Amino acid sequence: MTDMPVERFEVSLNTPAGLLTMPVEVPTGFVPVTTIVPLMRRLSQQAQALEERKSVAAGHPISCRMGCAACCRMLVPVSAPEAFALKDMILALPDARRARMMTKLSETRARVEQAGLLARLTDVAETTQPLIDEEMEPLNREYYALRMPCPFLENETCSIYEDRPAACRELLVTTPAELCQDMVKNQVQALPVPVRISTVMGALWSELVGGPARLIPLPIALDWAERHSAERSLVWKGTQLLDKALDKVWRYLSQELAHRAEAGSRMQRGTEGTSSGN
Ligand code: SF4
Repeated sequence: MTDMPVERFEVSLNTPAGLLTMPVEVPTGFVPVTTIVPLMRRLSQQAQALEERKSVAAGHPISCRMGCAACCRMLVPVSAPEAFALKDMILALPDARRARMMTKLSETRARVEQAGLLARLTDVAETTQPLIDEEMEPLNREYYALRMPCPFLENETCSIYEDRPAACRELLVTTPAELCQDMVKNQVQALPVPVRISTVMGALWSELVGGPARLIPLPIALDWAERHSAERSLVWKGTQLLDKALDKVWRYLSQELAHRAEAGSRMQRGTEGTSSGN
């Protein structure tokens, strides 16, 4: 994570697809919130891998392939720690590449503004109220209707693959790839997400600085990080960040396990009802 001394832990979490164990290292000193981002992404990746294994065993392999970027036209939500990490990553790029990326970001912003969505995206990024999925749905649909490629998409491949947001890593489908060409019209089956890391990091940020667990639309994430650069320089003890982040992960997983158990028993009751009706 950094050059500071680190403490090592073994993280063990009960996910809907099995037990996840992972060694982690955290700096013992004071670090910015971006320090936790790679660790959270790794955790999400491993939880998702367990889910993928379960799906394959049930006869539903993942159909996502390199070069297929149909879903890179959707509105991607990122947490505040991810927005800061994205800005750091872009600032560290060689000049030419950074300039190319900044041009693509301003073209995207201009197109979003032309479509009348920029003010609404900014409101979402800056809201002081909790975000509600149902309220986001119309905006998500209008954005997707533009079929605008993500500013980080180059030749149908993610140009920031190693640093892509958690939400991009978590969207995997088991239905044929062609169906993703229109994710509104077609019935696309997505792999269940055991733990949404952008939500977890949003909740972590909310606890650290107060305010709502905000999610920032990717096309304006850099603008948001720029406006909030004073918060980027805040620091916390690495172990404290890890504790708080794992607490949010644990809460999310507990809710997800309860939600799936409830869905399972509803299905079971439905099956029994159908059998006794026959
Ligand atoms: S960041 Fe990468 S993976 Fe995510 S939507 Fe953009 S191009 Fe696709």
